[in-house]
Amino acid sequence: MPRQVYPLRVLGMGLGGLPLAAVLYESGAPAATWAWLGFTALLWPQLALWLALRSRHPHRAEVRNLLFDSALAGMWVPLMHFNLLPSVLLVTLTTVDKISTGIPRLWLQSLPVMLAGAVLGSVATGLAFQPATSMAVILACLPVLLIHTVAVSLAANRLIGRIREQNRELDRLQRVDALTGLSGRRHWQQQAEAALHRHREEAAPAVLLMVDIDRFKDINDQYGHASGDDVLRMAAGILRRRLGEHDSAGRFGGDEFAVVLAGAGRDDAVAVAEGMRRDVEAAALALPHMAGLRCSVSIGVAAADAGHASVRDWLEAADAALYAAKHAGRNRVVAAILPRA
Ligand code: GH3
Ligand code: MG
Repeated sequence: MPRQVYPLRVLGMGLGGLPLAAVLYESGAPAATWAWLGFTALLWPQLALWLALRSRHPHRAEVRNLLFDSALAGMWVPLMHFNLLPSVLLVTLTTVDKISTGIPRLWLQSLPVMLAGAVLGSVATGLAFQPATSMAVILACLPVLLIHTVAVSLAANRLIGRIREQNRELDRLQRVDALTGLSGRRHWQQQAEAALHRHREEAAPAVLLMVDIDRFKDINDQYGHASGDDVLRMAAGILRRRLGEHDSAGRFGGDEFAVVLAGAGRDDAVAVAEGMRRDVEAAALALPHMAGLRCSVSIGVAAADAGHASVRDWLEAADAALYAAKHAGRNRVVAAILPRA
């Protein structure tokens, strides 16, 4: 944070020094006040960065610096004899700075600090009240008003852009299973719902395949978890290669995958599933570093049917077929019997 605040502080304090100098010039301020202006506008931004970077807790140190900014701003209001425009500008910009850090309630904490600064400034100079702002001071206010405001807005805009980018990435992570690159469970479920909807509305055929690796636990035990991951990636790759343009495959969790074949009839789907089963068997033999691996999948096939009130019913039908495939000795494809048949 200190390095992000630094350029804004240099800009804000530097440009903010112009109206202060104009007011001091008009009021014929003593040398000590001019020296304090030098400290505020030029020295303090450098000192603040140095303090924050040498601290063991730069973030906490920078919060202290931001509050000191507020104290300085508060102090300058009586030092300027309450000259209206620069006083309001100073208090407003200092508060905007606090809000734009995004630190909760920092701007509220800064208000009493600003007030304390104002009291200190009054005690130091005696209360003088000359609120009228001359044209020269108005002109001196313009650079800080324009440039600092735009700079703070640009910084906020950059932050919004970064958050938008992160949201997109989060969305992608939610949709895609990190290990296999297939759809994540929730995203896949939405695609299955859409396919079931099309089946109901337009009688579009769709078939669900539940694919589960046989004795995967043994593979993990024998070759290790990392090699188990390689097997999952290999199986996912095979499923993906067998998909058509409108089909979708998702990782359902662990070693279980679900596939929706859109537009396929039951027999076509069984043929696709057979192809997947054969490919996995062959590809497993060719996996490097896993000599002697025997790996197969069992697949349950269920065509969408009017009897399926939801994807859950459809999944249960495919799951029952998968269970039958496991029960019959694994490494096989079993198609569900339609609920109406
Ligand atoms: P079955 O033929 O009955 O399916 O036997 P199985 O051993 O495959 O059955 P089970 O579902 O009990 O085992 C799945 C194993 O998958 C258990 C778990 O440790 C492992 N597993 C789950 N997620 C991952 C993963 O991301 N990577 C790896 N390597 N293993 C995983
Ligand atoms: Mg399994």
